[in-house]
Amino acid sequence: MQIYNSMTRKKETFVPVREGKVSMYACGITAYDLCHIGHARSAIVFDVLARYLRHLKYDLTFVRNFTDVDDKIINRANELGVDSKEIAEKYMHTFHEDMDRLKVQRADIEPKATENINEMIKINEKLIADGNAYATASGDVYFRVRKFAEYGKLSGRSVDDLRSGARVQPGEEKEDPLDFALWKAAKPGEPYWDSPWGKGRPGWHIECSAMSERYLPLPLDIHGGGQDLIFPHHENEIAQTEACFGKNFCNYWVHNGFVQIDSEKMSKSLGNFKTIRDILEYCLPEVLRYFLLTRHYRSPIDFNFMAIDEAEKNVKKIYETLKAISLLLAEDAKADAKSSAVKLPESFTKELKELDDAYWAALDDDLNTAAALGHVFGIVHLSNRLLEDKKLSGTVEARALLKDIQAKFVEYSKVLGLFDEDPISFLNQLKLFRLQKKNLKVEQIEELMNKRLTARQNKDFALADSLRKELEDLGLEIRDTASGAGWDVV
Ligand SMILES: [Zn+2]
Repeated sequence: MQIYNSMTRKKETFVPVREGKVSMYACGITAYDLCHIGHARSAIVFDVLARYLRHLKYDLTFVRNFTDVDDKIINRANELGVDSKEIAEKYMHTFHEDMDRLKVQRADIEPKATENINEMIKINEKLIADGNAYATASGDVYFRVRKFAEYGKLSGRSVDDLRSGARVQPGEEKEDPLDFALWKAAKPGEPYWDSPWGKGRPGWHIECSAMSERYLPLPLDIHGGGQDLIFPHHENEIAQTEACFGKNFCNYWVHNGFVQIDSEKMSKSLGNFKTIRDILEYCLPEVLRYFLLTRHYRSPIDFNFMAIDEAEKNVKKIYETLKAISLLLAEDAKADAKSSAVKLPESFTKELKELDDAYWAALDDDLNTAAALGHVFGIVHLSNRLLEDKKLSGTVEARALLKDIQAKFVEYSKVLGLFDEDPISFLNQLKLFRLQKKNLKVEQIEELMNKRLTARQNKDFALADSLRKELEDLGLEIRDTASGAGWDVV
């Protein structure tokens, strides 16, 4: 597999340290609020990467942490007058609820910062003993950035440039404005742990150094997160870990791009934060997951409701084809199918193989889900061509090909986490969801449909037409077929 490494700034062939085994660590959420669409993207990207590595038969151990002690959590708890533990637990729970809906599989190990305090203290002690860190009189511990010669290697920043922009905040006893906190003396009312430097709590960066080293062998094969974590978080993780353990921290750094909202950066100050829950009021979880995978993971992605509508249309198209395939295969093979003089042109089989190869090649090329989904659509079009040709679709060869397509979709769904619902129930679910968005009820529609049927049976075409118009005005599409009238939500 080719994967882009943020450290070397190029695509590289992925070779794990230990043959057949892969260790992957992704930075998880700080549990102080509901997850937004940026969290969804990052979780889905690393979920697909984990699924793909398993498809390649690697024995993967995937660790994703929870930051359950942090300034943001403490501030939120103080605002609400509750314990910070309560806040962290609530939002770790909502993370799982949201991610389960989006079919993000749980990581193999999901450690919490507060369960790894001793490991962090040990790293701090070693860093201090080696002169890479120092404790201040008030009980803070700082990392001595100037001691780590390679500082800035991931983000490509020079220590001199960083120093010119850095300031020491009032109350900080840093030797150098660049130094960052490994341990913070507890202020009154804050959660604390006993340490050699008095009561305190860990800085943010140190937890990932402690947890990755505790649960995975170093060097890690893959360390991931959003691009916003490159500096300072990942840069600081590298400095701490490499200074402490004296070995390379990680071989492949993988970062996903930002999510923008209506072409603007998502930020609290712009008030344009979209939580996963907000969006799932508007679309089904599979539509959101599909939308987020329609762009390459390193590109920025622009969220807007029109793009979600487009994604919904495409997911529906795919399921409609899957439904048509399963309905056709459920019918008994036509008696004359074998003896039919009609032959399935070889081009169909050839095209399917090309599209299938291209699908897997796209994922192998730096996890290009956007291109892979393009090839999925190629297969959908191929299937539709076959399904629409009644003479061809009845042949034994065509049925075998469609069965093969069905089997291929099972494999695709294992990696993408898409298209794994029963097509008929998914399409029904989508129809009801769209109806609900229009504040309509099935019974209400069925009643109008029945009235229209009666009017048609009574040859009262004027009434039948006005009922049709009424249904269309509600935003429905009416289809009259040989087997009766059906409706769908536009
Ligand atoms: Zn981290």
